[in-house]
Amino acid sequence: MSATQTTQIEIIKATTTKINEVDFNNLSFGSVFTDHLFECDFKNGEWQQPVIKPYAPFLIDPSTRVFHYGQAIFEGMKAYKNEADEIWLFRPDENYNRFNKSAVRMAMPEVPEDIFMNGLQQLLHLDEAWIKKGKGNAMYIRPFMIANGTGVIANPSDDYKFMIILSPVTSYYAGDVKVLIAEHYSRAANGGIGAAKAAGNYGAQFYPTTLANQQGFQQVIWTDDATHTKLEEAGTMNVFFRINNTLLTAPVSERILDGVTRKTLIELAKSEGINVEVRSVLVDELVAAAKDGSLQEIFGAGTAAVVSPISGFSYKDEYFELPKSETTVASQLKEKLTNIQNKLEEDTFGWTVKI
Ligand SMILES: *Cc1c(COP(=O)(O)O)cnc(C)c1O
Repeated sequence: MSATQTTQIEIIKATTTKINEVDFNNLSFGSVFTDHLFECDFKNGEWQQPVIKPYAPFLIDPSTRVFHYGQAIFEGMKAYKNEADEIWLFRPDENYNRFNKSAVRMAMPEVPEDIFMNGLQQLLHLDEAWIKKGKGNAMYIRPFMIANGTGVIANPSDDYKFMIILSPVTSYYAGDVKVLIAEHYSRAANGGIGAAKAAGNYGAQFYPTTLANQQGFQQVIWTDDATHTKLEEAGTMNVFFRINNTLLTAPVSERILDGVTRKTLIELAKSEGINVEVRSVLVDELVAAAKDGSLQEIFGAGTAAVVSPISGFSYKDEYFELPKSETTVASQLKEKLTNIQNKLEEDTFGWTVKI
């Protein structure tokens, strides 16, 4: 990683630790946080003194812009500990670059690399006892930035707050995931903010997802906003289809987020000799493949769950159950990827970075 130390981070250590209260075998995703957080404010056109301090709630003025105009972005990444107690990140430059792309789209200042990377590394080292070894265990990292200026004036804020918080996670099985293919609602539109990791994208998904939940589906497969004929993402994950032994996924676009897991799985699948095609996949094609038996798998891909197999989908009130198989490409790729991430298998791709 190319981060150079230019800014000295002020460190205020917590006087006690919460670690003994945590049951690391029963973690519910993203609900437990470590002892410290990283914070850096942007004021008067400049990034201020970065600080690592005890994790705690903070006061914020009710007129703060983030509450009213939704200028908020985030990232999701993971750190891993190997058997030698070393800490590793997975393709962190991808997250850093994407964070700043999101910042630009939301008219927010870009975060300098040394603030992001050194902040992240020092925070992880300080709370390293919270990172557990072993397959599936990881530290989920949530960098985020909010508009921190006050006043209910519909302009970009002058002040921003960048923070990193850490949440220990273990691998989880999402259970049976049935999805509903969207016929009306959209996650993103051309010219919109679908390619940014903007908080508002998630807020906008909750209502249609809740409607799908009420019909017995766990997630929505989003289709393109203009025609609803192209399959784009599954919930908050990129989506893959396996039809006739070919793995298919849509190209990234203004509507489809450029997922690190997605691009990693494409490369991994190719290296495993799996036929991969990056192209638009049509709803009609999926329905036809489900009917003629050539549809083998659908799975979501993202940092949190890595790979999330889908057991069936519904379109226009017709439900299609996917074939059950012991040997799926989803589990093959998940195994390979988590082995590389947890340093249980050699990383011949150069994706893992020791900190
Ligand atoms: C974060 C995200 C993904 C997955 O990206 P990863 O880099 O693989 O974690 C996919 N789709 C959306 C909409 C997302 O916000």
